Amino acid sequence: MLNLILFGPPGSGKGTQSEKLVEKYHLIHLSTGDLLRKEISTKTELGLAAQGYMNEGKLVPDEVVIGMIGNCIDANPAAKGFLFDGFPRTVPQAKALDTLLSAKSTPINTVLFLQVNEEELIKRLVKRGETSGRADDADPAIQKKRQDVYKEQTLPVSGYYQQFDKVVNVIGEGSIDDIFAGLSKEIDKFN
Ligand code: ADP
Repeated sequence: MLNLILFGPPGSGKGTQSEKLVEKYHLIHLSTGDLLRKEISTKTELGLAAQGYMNEGKLVPDEVVIGMIGNCIDANPAAKGFLFDGFPRTVPQAKALDTLLSAKSTPINTVLFLQVNEEELIKRLVKRGETSGRADDADPAIQKKRQDVYKEQTLPVSGYYQQFDKVVNVIGEGSIDDIFAGLSKEIDKFN
């Protein structure tokens, strides 16, 4: 199996690159942001509980997203591998993922960390805010909150995986195809 984490701040291009990667490597795409938005649009209990956190740019509680990811892993027993996008976002989520995967004897192979400078991130998020229709994209104060949450709670996840030598930095600026080529080059080392 090939289990990858695509890591980086909001606006670093994880969603765009994930779509291309799952197609090329035949992986199951697990985006907690997408899964949560689906729960909201179908008005499930989980979605209703998550909505308030998301609209404020805060993280949804760990146990909620961990449960969701556990269900998705169980629902795909024949998967060739998983691409985790937007998860894990806290160190407890990373540890829980390790436990879920060790039960399947299939660890995370690598954490691909998209490198994008802050000025470019803000430019991209402002642009996305004009078209995405997402409440958490439209408001600059909420975007700022998401960047702060990233620095405080999510960046430590890269430190967690660095201790196991699993993090590779990949250039996240330039054309979509160039960035994709950089990611593919790293992934091909595991194939
Ligand atoms: P982006 O790609 O812009 O960073 P996402 O679509 O991944 O945003 O996530 C949107 C929101 O969903 C987050 O701000 C957070 O509230 C919630 N969310 C997504 N993934 C997680 C997670 N792993 N843990 C907690 N909250 C999450």
